Amino acid sequence: MPELRKDPFSDRWVIFAEDRDRRPNEYRRTHYQRQASRCPFCAGNERSTPAPIALYGHNHQPKHPASQLDQDWLVRVVPNKFPALTKNGSADTSPLAPQLPRAEPRPVLNPLFESRPAIGSHEVVVESPRHVASLTALTDDEVKLAIRAYHDRLRHLRQLESIAYALVFKNVGPAAGASLEHAHSQIAATPIVPIDVQRELDAAAHYYATDGCCAYCRILDQEFATGDRVVAETTHFFAFCPYASRTPYEMWILPKRHVSHFDQQNSDSLPELALFLRQCLRQLESLHPHLAYNFFIHTAPFDTSDLDHYHWHIEVIPRLTTAAGFEWGAGCFINPVLPEKAAMALRG
Ligand SMILES: [Zn+2]
Ligand SMILES: [Zn+2]
Ligand SMILES: [Zn+2]
Repeated sequence: MPELRKDPFSDRWVIFAEDRDRRPNEYRRTHYQRQASRCPFCAGNERSTPAPIALYGHNHQPKHPASQLDQDWLVRVVPNKFPALTKNGSADTSPLAPQLPRAEPRPVLNPLFESRPAIGSHEVVVESPRHVASLTALTDDEVKLAIRAYHDRLRHLRQLESIAYALVFKNVGPAAGASLEHAHSQIAATPIVPIDVQRELDAAAHYYATDGCCAYCRILDQEFATGDRVVAETTHFFAFCPYASRTPYEMWILPKRHVSHFDQQNSDSLPELALFLRQCLRQLESLHPHLAYNFFIHTAPFDTSDLDHYHWHIEVIPRLTTAAGFEWGAGCFINPVLPEKAAMALRG
């Protein structure tokens, strides 16, 4: 049964999920073994995953619940077979029901050893029926439906009382923690707000208290004014390399208009976001083919209404450097590429 334990010094929660040790890792196999094994995410192998939570087909309307063997899909959302968070702390991977009661934390008998069951959900968004390794290889329809699936799932998950937060994230390449090659992303819904998000919220609230404006909106204005770190823009979205980028070519994508929750972003703008994200990642891959990277969506917690001080965003973290002793010991990153130079290269 997965369990959350809190480190009393950093307030950081750690999920213990021993089952995840049993995950297959394609990248540990030889080329021959990979060729012979069946990819669980490819069309025709639907039986290899738990029954889908939702399917998106050519008509763009989601089907849920959907039959496990339904092959009419472009994007498929399934429970993670080796979840880090589960419905009732058991191995049951079926989706959470809206009526699930709030999971009360265990009483804190000892503040140095605080724990609670890792109740939540852990979903996989399979982004194409074809075996492609990168989001940049998705068709227009596939990438639009993948973003639509993130939006739909977050809208659903926010209704569940037991869920405080959901992180959409993507791991590409073994150096970024991927165990399967087939293009996919994940959604982890947690009963707690992750510490990194809480720190951003606190810093953004602090800035707002002094300036009376959202810090992210201010940064957008200032980045746009100088242009040094700008990567690209569309009508509604903006990409840039942040001033204190932790890694070479770190890139953030933000909506130009202030919105605190990703699930509150206007649905009409999502296709534009999908194509823009793919374009930005293509710019990155043109500089570094077969790049390992992570991206994630930072959004405001579900139990908050619209926040004037927080602005949802996507952070793209290329894995060109390794977090080593100094990063682990000091929490301080050493970056060999200035974001101004990274942005210039990305603009081509
Ligand atoms: Zn595949
Ligand atoms: Zn803002
Ligand atoms: Zn962030």
